Amino acid sequence: MKSLNQLHLCAALSILMAHYINSSETAIDRSLQEQTMLSVLYAQSSTEYAANSIQTYANASMLLDDAIADKNWSAALEQSGEYSSKPMAIILDVDETVLDNVAFQARSILSGLSYPNGWIEWGLEATAKPVPGVSSFLENASDKGIKIFYVTNRVAELEEATRTNIKNLGLPFDDDRDVLLMRDENGWTSDKVSRRALVAEDYRILMLVGDQLTDFISLEEAATDINTRRDLAEKYSDMWGKKWFMLTNPMYGKWEGAIYGNKYPDTKEEIMEMRLNALKP
Ligand SMILES: [Mg+2]
Repeated sequence: MKSLNQLHLCAALSILMAHYINSSETAIDRSLQEQTMLSVLYAQSSTEYAANSIQTYANASMLLDDAIADKNWSAALEQSGEYSSKPMAIILDVDETVLDNVAFQARSILSGLSYPNGWIEWGLEATAKPVPGVSSFLENASDKGIKIFYVTNRVAELEEATRTNIKNLGLPFDDDRDVLLMRDENGWTSDKVSRRALVAEDYRILMLVGDQLTDFISLEEAATDINTRRDLAEKYSDMWGKKWFMLTNPMYGKWEGAIYGNKYPDTKEEIMEMRLNALKP
């Protein structure tokens, strides 16, 4: 018969073994997520990032009166027909344009889990802060009688929480018609062309604001190889800073997809290798 001491030793050893097995099973591999750490820290804590956003919105604000006065002014490639007498609108993307989700990115690094893990939960919290500069820009535009539309690729499941988040920040949000156009709502795909066209039917679109190329042009045109994609900045050089306003997002986006030929690899090893191969020394 085992002594009490032996029993205690056995129990202690099994607890230790269980702990060891458990911790080795749940050891977090953050190696992929950690590659975004500096870009997340840049967006979360640098004055440089905040200043750049404020600068972009201040530039847009200064051009509002010109946009209002010039009845032939439109920022949307989808705008057609007679639009000079239509009421005015501005279209903004939501994520990293109006709402700052850097906290979600920080969580992803710490948890070692990538989007979409935890994304819906984060969205439902409805606690995102405003991107620097957006509040005064939208207040200014709204005061001038311009309708504000939010065109986002957040899924329809997040519509109510997104509305709550935007309203809680005191940003303009009209209720007389749907001004928050989600992905998967009314058959809308992630291509924002059809939603911009819908707004253009009733409004003269003065400005587009976003953090992704597809907030301005079609998914089809944007989903090209990495070099052709880069050239699109030049193709539309007349629009940037005048009718189109791009916020900086170094953390994620279709620009990253272009590195993989617009097809995300299945494994993190492939992702890291393709990133390395894309560097131009
Ligand atoms: Mg965005």
